[in-house]
Amino acid sequence: MQDETVPGPHTAHAIALTGISKMYGLVTALHPTDLSVDMGEFLTLLGPSGSGKTTLLNLIAGAIGPTTGTIFLDGRDITQMPPRERGIGMVFQNYALMPHMTVFDNVAYPLRARRQPASTIRAKVAEALERVGLRGFEDRKPRQLSGGQQQRVGIARCIVYSPSIIMMDEPLGALDKNLREQMQSEIKRLHRELGTTIIYVTHDQEEALNMSDRICLMSAGQITQLGTPDELYFQPRDRFVAEFIGESNLISGRMNSNGQLVIAGNRSIPVPAGGWTEGAELLVMVRPERVRICDIDEPVKEGSNVLSGEIGTTSFVGGMTRVTIQTEIGLNMTAKMVSGRAASRPQAGARVRVCWSSSDMVVLET
Ligand code: ADP
Ligand code: MG
Repeated sequence: MQDETVPGPHTAHAIALTGISKMYGLVTALHPTDLSVDMGEFLTLLGPSGSGKTTLLNLIAGAIGPTTGTIFLDGRDITQMPPRERGIGMVFQNYALMPHMTVFDNVAYPLRARRQPASTIRAKVAEALERVGLRGFEDRKPRQLSGGQQQRVGIARCIVYSPSIIMMDEPLGALDKNLREQMQSEIKRLHRELGTTIIYVTHDQEEALNMSDRICLMSAGQITQLGTPDELYFQPRDRFVAEFIGESNLISGRMNSNGQLVIAGNRSIPVPAGGWTEGAELLVMVRPERVRICDIDEPVKEGSNVLSGEIGTTSFVGGMTRVTIQTEIGLNMTAKMVSGRAASRPQAGARVRVCWSSSDMVVLET
């Protein structure tokens, strides 16, 4: 009997993986995993190095075979199908262009391999180069292009034969920050224009938040949390997610008989409702941008948590200022705020209070 929540051939997903895993000898690169990707979705595999992102991509592409499990493409079991018959386009971090071929020939390559007529090839290569902003570069060799331009050729070579699924493994990893952000917008625009399903791999959380319909966060060969960027940021499941995506203040404590959380210094604070029983050990999180620094004599708002403390460090990083506060109960907190001029920014050693609203706290799984 098939559980409806398990992806499989009965769904209209672009890709569905059931129980897919990969072992190398005794090393588990990927634990048995279920994952489905919707038609036209932009799904990002995010995670630290070694978490299994490339393994998952290579399994879908067919570059490696799974130890267990089944892969469905458009509802068809393709687990045993050779890679080139899967019709999945790939974009690589190192571009993987052919150095002795011109831009035109690199982009034309997949069409020639599919034995398309010369006139079709000319038209399709022109269209693909137009889409990535490289018309006029047809006769250059890869070494005559910048890194960003080379990756545009890589993308053109991928979209030129209209694959229904495109996979990109850290495609912007070799580019500097400004160019990376520009290329992120361009890839998003291409996704909108083409409507292709994209599976994108990165270890950069900001890139993942910015680009994805959904993020699949991986750790140690497993999916830790799968959800929209909003869900991962505002409702992280556990400590790993909370710390990997954005910054977080973590506070641990034990529930008392009044339904409050007793934290360091024997202070009790309200927590979001959740039916916690007395004695339950909880880990709660509040994001630094939800923590306010107030003057020591400022009146306290209802529903706020307040701790007195002293400013530790202040780092000015342009638009935002990041401040650490050593509180009286021994808990170190981080606050982030929109930067003011130097004179108005918190000064190290100043006595302050930190406040945050109970509604901004998230209870994590421990
Ligand atoms: P990521 O892409 O997230 O950095 P990978 O999927 O490349 O991670 O690797 C996941 C794990 O599998 C790592 O621990 C890695 O060392 C291991 N691994 C990957 N490929 C092989 C291989 N060919 N032989 C042995 N171990 C491998
Ligand atoms: Mg990798």
